[in-house]
Amino acid sequence: MIYFDSTATTKPTKEILELYNKVSSEYWYNPSSAYNVALKANNLLIKSQNIVKESLGVANHNVIFTSGATEANNLAIFGICNNYLKDTKRIITSKIEHPSVYNVFKRLEEIGFDVIYLDVNEFGIVDLEQLKSSLNKDTILVSIMWVNNIIGSIQPIKEIVKILKDYPRCKLHVDSVQGLGKIKPDFNFNEIDLFTMSSHKLEGIKGSGALIYNNKINLTNHLVGANQQLGIKPGTIDLASSVTCAKTIQNAVKYQSEHFNKVLELNKYLENKIKEIDQIAINTNTKYASPFIFNISIKEFNAETIMHYLEQKEIYVSIGSACGSKTKKPEKTIYAITNDQLLSTTSIRISLSHLNTFEEIDILVDELRNYITK
Ligand code: PMP
Repeated sequence: MIYFDSTATTKPTKEILELYNKVSSEYWYNPSSAYNVALKANNLLIKSQNIVKESLGVANHNVIFTSGATEANNLAIFGICNNYLKDTKRIITSKIEHPSVYNVFKRLEEIGFDVIYLDVNEFGIVDLEQLKSSLNKDTILVSIMWVNNIIGSIQPIKEIVKILKDYPRCKLHVDSVQGLGKIKPDFNFNEIDLFTMSSHKLEGIKGSGALIYNNKINLTNHLVGANQQLGIKPGTIDLASSVTCAKTIQNAVKYQSEHFNKVLELNKYLENKIKEIDQIAINTNTKYASPFIFNISIKEFNAETIMHYLEQKEIYVSIGSACGSKTKKPEKTIYAITNDQLLSTTSIRISLSHLNTFEEIDILVDELRNYITK
C-alpha cells in the first residue's frame, strides 16, 4: 500500500495508541470529580495543557482540548462573534478556507455580519492590499489559515500580524491544521490571538484537537453546558484524547525540521518527475507552498477515474480534499487560483509525509504516465 493522503489523515503511531489505551484504562475517572483519583486525572489534564504551552511557547494562552479542528474553529470564531450579535461587525476571511471556517463565516453573514472574503493570487496567497483596505475600526476578527489544505500555499501570517497591530480591537484566528508541526512558523505563536490544530493530521488520534487562545481574550462559550475547560468546551473531559493531543503536538514540534527536510527532498523529486508529463498541469507553486502538499490537474481525464485506477494499484491520493471529495463541485481553492472550471474539477492532491519514499514516487508517476498514455 502506498499512501499519499496524509493531508486527509495519518495513521496514529504505536506510542500514541498505547498512551491512549493507558490513559483510558488507568485514568478513567471524571477529572471534574473531587476525590483523589479524579484529582490525579485532572492533574494529567493540567500537565497536558502545560506540554502544549511549552511546546509552542505560549505561556499566556489557554489550551482547550476539542474533538478536532472543526469544533475548535467553530468555538473560536463564534466565540469572538457571539459578543457582537446585537451590534454586528465586520469580519474578514479568505476564499480558500477549510469549510470549518468558511461555512462558519457564511452562517455569520446570513445572520447579519459584514463579511469580506479575501481574494488570493495565482499562487494561492491572500491579497494583503485588499486586507489593508478592508480593515476598519469595526473589524473584530480576521481568520486566515496558515497552510491551505488543497494546494499547500503558505499564508503570510507574520505580515498579517504586523498589519493588525494598528487594529487592536481586531482578533486574529489562524487555522493551523496543515502548518503546525509540519513547517517552521515565521511568526511566534504567542502573537496569534487564537489558533487551532487537529491531532489526526500529525499521527495522533481522530476526534482530537485543540483551540489555543490568548488568555486576555473574552471568548464567549458557543457550546452551552457546565464549566469544564473554562466553559468553552463543556462536557466531561476526554482525558485520553487530551493527553494524546499534547503528546502529538510535542512529538510534531520535536521532529518538525527532520520530517520537513525529508519531505522537501521528496517534493522536489516529485515535482521534477511530474514536470516531464505534458498533460499534467501543476496547481501548487512549490516556491510558496508547504512541501507536504502537491496538487495537479489532468485536464483530459476524470480525476475520480484516475483516483480509482490508482486505488486498484493500492496507491491512495485525494481528489479535492477528503472532506469535499464526495461532492462533484469545482474545488473552490483551485478555482480561486486558476479561474478555470475544468482545472478545478479535475484536481488531484498528492500529499507527502516523512514515511513516503522516492521509490513510491517513482511508482506513482509511472502509473500516472501509464494511465495518461495508454
Ligand atoms: N482545517 C484544515 C485546514 C483541515 O485540513 C482540516 C481537516 N481536513 C480541518 C480544519 C478539520 O479538522 P478535523 O478533521 O480535526 O475536524
